[in-house]
Amino acid sequence: MDTLFDVAVIGAGPGGYVAAIRAAQLGLRTVCIDDFKDAAGKASLGGTCLNVGCIPSKALLESSENYEKAIHKFHEHGITASDVKMDVSKMLSRKNRIVKQFTSGISLLFKKNKVTNIHGSAEIISSGELVRLKISGLKEEYIEAKNVIIATGSSPREMDSVPVDNEYICDNKGALSLTQTPKHLLVIGAGVIGLEMGSVWKRLGAKVTVLEALPNFLGAVDESVSKEAKRIFTKNVGLDIHLGCSVQKVTRKNKVITVTYTEASATKTLECDRIVVAVGRVPNSDDVGLDNVGIKVDERGFITVDHHNRTNVSNIYAIGDVVRGPMLAHKSSEEGVAVAETISGQYGDVNLDTIPWVIYTSPEIAWVGQTEQALKEEGVPYKVGKFPFVASGRAQAIGDSSGFVKMIAHEETDRILGVHVIGPYASELISEAVVAMEFGATSEDIARIVHAHPSLSEAMHEAALGIDNRYLSL
Ligand code: FAD
Ligand code: NAD
Repeated sequence: MDTLFDVAVIGAGPGGYVAAIRAAQLGLRTVCIDDFKDAAGKASLGGTCLNVGCIPSKALLESSENYEKAIHKFHEHGITASDVKMDVSKMLSRKNRIVKQFTSGISLLFKKNKVTNIHGSAEIISSGELVRLKISGLKEEYIEAKNVIIATGSSPREMDSVPVDNEYICDNKGALSLTQTPKHLLVIGAGVIGLEMGSVWKRLGAKVTVLEALPNFLGAVDESVSKEAKRIFTKNVGLDIHLGCSVQKVTRKNKVITVTYTEASATKTLECDRIVVAVGRVPNSDDVGLDNVGIKVDERGFITVDHHNRTNVSNIYAIGDVVRGPMLAHKSSEEGVAVAETISGQYGDVNLDTIPWVIYTSPEIAWVGQTEQALKEEGVPYKVGKFPFVASGRAQAIGDSSGFVKMIAHEETDRILGVHVIGPYASELISEAVVAMEFGATSEDIARIVHAHPSLSEAMHEAALGIDNRYLSL
């Protein structure tokens, strides 16, 4: 095997595998080293996203939503579906099949693009014109590379008082593989994973309690959206959400888990049979050999990089969850592309201000740009247009008319500053807003574009019209 490369990528998640493919496309001799193993102990490419994150969670969300629709929604259409049952093991097999299809697809993409792939754990040993790496896998081997891209991702943040065993107390890995529906599932952390996983098991029949440490619900989201989301998740979805809670102690006797927590300074207990801990993620920056070459990390362990993802060692870059910015797959991938292009002498850049966020609950939540509360705090003058899906013909036909599209534009320049959607297919609708913001569009630009009728995108059009109070359907 070659031991000298132009680019060595550490990690084959959506950041690393995309960086490796793009580097190889640009004619750079590229190796990608990854240490992820699946449940059977076999090497599996794709990192968190493909193995235990984005893809399996979306598969379960889809299955559970179909089940719930068959029980609670079909009758509205005149469809009788009696004796509807959920076979959890079949649902998991489907999820596993989809995961396998994508993880093995990356091996094929590596072969097609001539990326060398090594399974093992990589550690940077020394830097200089050539960076030396030790790889501990089936055997110990050493390689050298002119450039290194660290894409080691993140791991679930642990709680000392709630140790994960991935049988009774689960992180994302266990939450995606529960073999039967819990009777009472406790979710700790009302963030993205907590709400998505809580929704899956609630739809399948579990009682779901969510304990969140902060006093605000979805604090990073536009306040009007988080308020609407809290109302819908509590009233319609049936999640029992408690804010301002601190879990003190967890004990298990056979199948019963007793949880002691405080809420508004009162000590309370609850009993459940499964727990999902989803209290954020921490960067995987400990075992890559950063100290061997003096690479800086910040106080939370994120590798310090400049705007072009370069570390303080000039030929070592870092991308994705292990650096600042949102922990999102598409952000990781775009940084991978940008760094590969930078290394090949092109100009690589990612605009962190226009990264779309999506929470795949029902209704979905998606946003890009700034929230109203942030603009208020910064003293930026703005105008708002807001259009509810209840007035959208397409949303009514779909049978999901909860939520709204909210557009915020600068009061003087009319430039779009943020778009926030809660409602059906928010994940798809948000792309129009991302494109508009990347092109520096004004709300007037969106207002003048013809949107198909009847479509959910008309709600985006109406929100833009609403900025100057020119709603046509309200
Ligand atoms: P990772 O995907 O974490 O990949 C890093 C890889 O590097 C891993 O394979 C790891 O084993 C390997 N590695 C680590 N250290 C070493 C080493 N020393 N040597 C060799 N290999 C190493 N994001 C979205 O955008 N949309 C979603 O819908 C979404 N859903 C999610 C659902 C869940 C349940 C979770 C947990 C996350 C979700 N995310 C989602 C977040 C997304 O998974 C991450 O942002 C993304 O995977 C980060 O990509 P990455 O390449 O930076 O790191
Ligand atoms: P998160 O940051 O979204 O939410 C964690 C929540 O746990 C927060 O609300 C936090 O206040 C709360 N919390 C922290 N400590 C707590 C404690 N001791 N007790 C109770 N609550 C506590 O993190 P996550 O849900 O673990 O997800 C991690 C990241 O993975 C996300 O931020 C996101 O970047 C990514 N992700 C994305 C998607 C998506 O794009 N749809 C889906 C899942 C995960």
